[in-house]
Amino acid sequence: MNLDNYKLFTVGPTQMYESTLKVRSKVVPYFRTPEFSEMMLDSERLIKKLQFAPHDSKVVFLTASGSGAMEATVINCFNQNDKLLVISGGTFGERFEKICEIHQIPFEALKLGADEALESSHFQEFENQGFTGLLVNIDETYTGQLYDINIIRDFCDRNNLLLVVDAISSFLADPYYMEKNHIDATIISSQKGLCLAPGLSIITLSPRMVQKVESIKVASLYFDFNDYFINMMRGQTPFTPAVGVCFELNDMLHKIDEQGIDARLKEVKARCDYFRSSIQNLPIHLPKYPLSNAITPIRFEKDIAMDFFAYLKNEKHIMVNPVGGELGKRSIRVAHVGDLKLVDYDNLINEIKTYFNM
Ligand SMILES: *Cc1c(COP(=O)(O)O)cnc(C)c1O
Repeated sequence: MNLDNYKLFTVGPTQMYESTLKVRSKVVPYFRTPEFSEMMLDSERLIKKLQFAPHDSKVVFLTASGSGAMEATVINCFNQNDKLLVISGGTFGERFEKICEIHQIPFEALKLGADEALESSHFQEFENQGFTGLLVNIDETYTGQLYDINIIRDFCDRNNLLLVVDAISSFLADPYYMEKNHIDATIISSQKGLCLAPGLSIITLSPRMVQKVESIKVASLYFDFNDYFINMMRGQTPFTPAVGVCFELNDMLHKIDEQGIDARLKEVKARCDYFRSSIQNLPIHLPKYPLSNAITPIRFEKDIAMDFFAYLKNEKHIMVNPVGGELGKRSIRVAHVGDLKLVDYDNLINEIKTYFNM
């Protein structure tokens, strides 16, 4: 595969920033050193700051893709004595369901149809049913729906649930307030909004979730969060982390912190708004439910999505996100995270017009 000259409108891996590419070009150093520890503690501080996490939260740096972090979080935070509600509106919600099934953690799913927005009325049948936790992919990346955190938080408050949020595609694309929204676990991954190489996932746990984790004996060597807590007190991980990505991360966190989180979000939103307003007159439409700024799910009127995806990739060296499953025949997704300029979107829109002979 030729790596040159591709433009990525994909949600992860994304079009990486030049500063990240510079960091990536260096020798990956040995990491059991005070210097590396100091950098990791600095990254922990910045993650908590950018997520507006409670002061006494703990951060786990896990070398795994996002799904590994989802599984690790579920098995460290819950067990057979829990009863979870899973918001399931796409393939990532279904992944949470599968994790619960495999690990025999009792759960029920709040299922959404392909074009159905999550509303407070959906929660009525789940009130006072003895749930202890809720799992949600706040941007269900499969459909691009951004769920309303206010509805979810209020339900969790009323029913005294621990709230686990997979913010893997939403963080750094949509505003995210961990403490204000009473979120007990936040899961993110290096290759999405952070625009780094894949391999590193980060889980932030609220003080009350830390207490819960400390009370559970997880049947796993690699994914035992208590081991990560002890090591992180000195800025280390139990096992070799994705050391190179840790350096990319620290560089990116400083870049975002210096720019300011609001400015970073504004940048992503500007690309998103620009693209969505520019496609209004094309023979495509967008779903009606609330959308994340991370990605725009385009729906065509005919089953041409795979053909269009191949055309862009092979003829134009442009990568957009295909969609798996039934939705995939008529849908592609265009990301707004990554080092992309408005002129890049002009080019993409021109390609859409060429494809449709407009
Ligand atoms: C990308 C993504 C994941 C993680 O997928 P991996 O391929 O395992 O990194 C999980 N949840 C959501 C919502 C995602 O967008």
